[in-house]
Amino acid sequence: MSQYYSIAIDGPAGAGKSSLAKALAARLGFLYVDTGAIYRTVGLYVARQGGDCGKLEEVLPRLPEIELSLRHGDDGQQHMLLGGEDVTEAIRENAVSRYASQVSAHQPVRDFLLDMQRELARQHNVIMDGRDIGTVVLPQADVKIFLTASVEQRALRRCRELEARGQAVDLETLKKEIAQRDYDDSHRAAAPLRQAEDAVVLDTSQLDLQQSLEALLTLVKERLPL
Ligand code: C5P
Repeated sequence: MSQYYSIAIDGPAGAGKSSLAKALAARLGFLYVDTGAIYRTVGLYVARQGGDCGKLEEVLPRLPEIELSLRHGDDGQQHMLLGGEDVTEAIRENAVSRYASQVSAHQPVRDFLLDMQRELARQHNVIMDGRDIGTVVLPQADVKIFLTASVEQRALRRCRELEARGQAVDLETLKKEIAQRDYDDSHRAAAPLRQAEDAVVLDTSQLDLQQSLEALLTLVKERLPL
């Protein structure tokens, strides 16, 4: 039994996992771990090296050479470092979402990143978000939440997020990309996106950020002696 608490938040792209997990971590004083950012960093690296992220034979030889690390700033913000370069912003490019989805479908990539994720939970109280946290990475998590929302809502949120970063995107295109990514993430052989049997489902389609955060806090406080 770990002496630390862990909260696993899984769900499809754009359900609000990152924003909510970050806010919840700040409220509880837990470390926030964004595992999608780790897969994004691997995807960015392979793409920068000219590799095709969809081909295992082009990804596998590059894994041992990746200098990947994760650092948390005083503000709780998770920074991704690639060979010393801070790629926290670069991994948010829309193209990197696809690279991440492609590399994450390879089981050896998942195995390669597993211990790094588990180690963080061994050393801290964590809120970890991703696709397989409650099912594979932290099956013993104290609280498991499956966060979801309609494709329309998720596309709209992602669209606003990208616009705020100065990246213009077409909403319909984004909706198709998200639906495709949902399909790919849920139908792959390696750790597909699915709800853990003991996870609580929270649908945020009709909730704003504050309401979702309150709902999450209530769930967590019912389950942890905080
Ligand atoms: O969460 P985010 O959208 O940043 O994740 C990018 C991609 O990384 C996802 O579409 C998914 O394919 C992959 N991923 C994963 N397992 C995780 C986190 C992310 O397969 N735990």
